[in-house]
Amino acid sequence: MCGIVGCIGKKEAQPYLISGLHRLEYRGYDSSGIVTINEKSATLLRAKGKVSELEKLADKQPSKDTIGIGHTRWATHGEPSEINAHPHQAGDVYLVHNGIIENYKELKTGLKNHVFVSQTDTEVLAALVDSFYGEGTELVDAVTQALQLVVGTYGIAVVSVRNPDEIIVARAGSPLIIGIGSDETYIASDASALIGYTTQAIYLNDGEIAICRRDGVTLRDLAAQPISSRVETIEIDMQAIQKQGYDHFLLKEICEQPVTLRSTLSGRVNVEDEQVKLGGLNLSVKEIRDIEHVTIIGCGTAYYAGLLGSYYLEQLVDDLTVDVAMASELRYRSFHLPKNTVALVISQSGETADTLACLRELKRRGVKTLGIINAVGSTIAREVDGGVYVHAGPEISVASTKAFTSQAVTIAMFGVQIAQAKGSSAKDVAKFIQELDQLPNEIEAVIKNYKEKIADIAKRYAHYEHAIFFGRDTLYPVALEGALKLKEISYIQAEGFAAGELKHGPIALVDDTFFEVALILDNWLFDKSLSALAEVNARGGHVIAITNSKKQIDAEEILVIDTKLDLLAPLVLNVAQQLFAYYVTVAKGFDVDQPRNLAKSVTVE
Ligand code: GLU
Repeated sequence: MCGIVGCIGKKEAQPYLISGLHRLEYRGYDSSGIVTINEKSATLLRAKGKVSELEKLADKQPSKDTIGIGHTRWATHGEPSEINAHPHQAGDVYLVHNGIIENYKELKTGLKNHVFVSQTDTEVLAALVDSFYGEGTELVDAVTQALQLVVGTYGIAVVSVRNPDEIIVARAGSPLIIGIGSDETYIASDASALIGYTTQAIYLNDGEIAICRRDGVTLRDLAAQPISSRVETIEIDMQAIQKQGYDHFLLKEICEQPVTLRSTLSGRVNVEDEQVKLGGLNLSVKEIRDIEHVTIIGCGTAYYAGLLGSYYLEQLVDDLTVDVAMASELRYRSFHLPKNTVALVISQSGETADTLACLRELKRRGVKTLGIINAVGSTIAREVDGGVYVHAGPEISVASTKAFTSQAVTIAMFGVQIAQAKGSSAKDVAKFIQELDQLPNEIEAVIKNYKEKIADIAKRYAHYEHAIFFGRDTLYPVALEGALKLKEISYIQAEGFAAGELKHGPIALVDDTFFEVALILDNWLFDKSLSALAEVNARGGHVIAITNSKKQIDAEEILVIDTKLDLLAPLVLNVAQQLFAYYVTVAKGFDVDQPRNLAKSVTVE
């Protein structure tokens, strides 16, 4: 979850470390720290809170050292505090860590020579490395010996005053990238920290250790055997990681959906030929035709995108069964999948630890896996059998918006491709293709025409403590996603329900501390949706109806979204919900892009 940076070169290290941590702050932001070293001393700076607090310390204590490592933390063990912030020190060793050392208690009992000052699992690892770092031992060997004893996940970077010409990094389950500059080597847990410094990078694999020097990198495994390195080119530009005039990344990312969606669809949907072709699936037409079951896995917003996608797959392909599971649950279940199953593995970052673990379990069982991933070169993208990059560009805001839309659309495209391979009903397929093609323009229109009205409604509902979102059929996953978005950033306690379920329990909640968002489509379920709405109204609800219908609807507030789409209208209504959550949060004055307790890219289980 956290961000790791490091650099070793000829220039001062501190400026890169601070700027890199700012870029990675969205990955964790409860505390941060850096250490720079030379052959005589170390300058360790740590602060609770945002990276700007650390920056103030760095301004007061600038360092000329040309080697250093840094970290922005998302606490797993021990509260967010200066003492628990990384880097952790043990003897001459300084270490930053992303992940969880699961056997830290057991390891700690054997480390009698170290006086522990923090509550973290990470300090145990630092002490373990130090315990192996005796006279005449290489730092890399001490790290290797320590890691051989560790159970858990980690991305680590280690430095020592006794060895001021190397940074040792290693990974098992948490991403690390090494940027190759000229006479300079950078380390980052996310490519965005390398942009502007270098475009050449080595994506470290699990079980690999890298010795980073000013003039290059040597890779080896945990048995100290050499590994040849693979340098790749990073293709993200600076623009993509800047706010570009928007007040917040979240608003930027909501508003850029027409553009990002066009990238998702580009070269894949052909309206003239009524064809969809996803490259990268690594499946022949026969293999696609033979798919009998699709199982979709994800977490959070990606899970909801999968749930919406599952409705589309069912609509598109008659002889296909579909199920959707939360990766964190499926992984430990005694699940059974039919033969000819394909698993769709959905993750924006491609690093989500729960999803990655589930992917590995599916692969172990011989299930064919396809990724629906945003971050190019990420671990899941590299481990799946095939897949589709959604090409939504870097998503910096912790709350996911544009990735959701592109993920759901990608599943619909996959459905069209299966339907075409199986020769399913041409009529639905043609309609889907047309709507996919029109979707970016329709979303563009919502943003342009309704932004102000939504901001106005949001202001008036921002004082409520609780919210219920409800919808039927394809609007059920959208209700879940709407509630998640609102709770993540505004801290209003919000839950999504299938409209038909309200009367089976949740309607008991309705009172004046709640408002409700009713999602209603003008389709064959319109009257049924009105019944659920009427039941809430009858109990004194404060309902905002979001609908594409111009028919009479009885609600406290009605937002009629004019769209010509039908099947994909839920994605259009969802954009209205995204804007609503954004403006509620702005009205409440909270940190939109970095909400409390959360972090982007959840790399711990
Ligand atoms: N488990 C470590 C801690 O709690 C690292 C957390 C992180 O990934 O930021 O300090």
